Amino acid sequence: MSNSVVSTEILTMYLFSFFSISLTLPSRSLLRTDSQTCRLAFLVIYCLYISTKRRLPMGYYHPAQICLNGHVINDSIDSHPELNEKFCTKCGAKTITSCPSCGAPLHGDFDCGPFLDLEPPSADAYCYNCGAPYPWTESALKSTTVLLQEEELLTDAAKETLIHELPDIISETPKTKLAVLHIQKYLPTIGRFTADALKQFIIDFGCEYALSLLKL
Ligand SMILES: [Zn+2]
Ligand SMILES: [Zn+2]
Repeated sequence: MSNSVVSTEILTMYLFSFFSISLTLPSRSLLRTDSQTCRLAFLVIYCLYISTKRRLPMGYYHPAQICLNGHVINDSIDSHPELNEKFCTKCGAKTITSCPSCGAPLHGDFDCGPFLDLEPPSADAYCYNCGAPYPWTESALKSTTVLLQEEELLTDAAKETLIHELPDIISETPKTKLAVLHIQKYLPTIGRFTADALKQFIIDFGCEYALSLLKL
């Protein structure tokens, strides 16, 4: 969530700077006076600074309410408590607002002041405070593990490899590329039902790197 937010905000910053220049300078004379030149230089330097730092100097996450299956119910429970639900309207599961392992509030919408966060709300896979998988991640890992264990066309060694590497599909790690290679190797050899379920797991929970490697 945070990387995409930063990218969006850098883009927003550039757009903001562009429109600021357009609005403050007289027509058809971009560098007409010294003060305008200084203003333009400041904005360019500021944008370069933000790009180099690759993170915003301000901003925070609103606490979120998410169902146990990972559907985001409310990405700003502090500003819009009226949108809270006890149970998910998509799947009927109970909703939570904090990590079951450590109690840290779930991350929702990233508030960056005047800049827009254009990313749709999504649930993180792991807790930022204690590193534990959230319930929806744990549930997906367990169900995909059972599916792979029951796949008759896989050897025991192949099952163990694929199951062991599922977390490397969720988060980008030094082993993600190897995990993707193993999936590409075994996917054509397994039953269609298991293959479709494995693909859906990757689409729902895979990191961007794994998705791009698998072209999903
Ligand atoms: Zn749900
Ligand atoms: Zn936690």
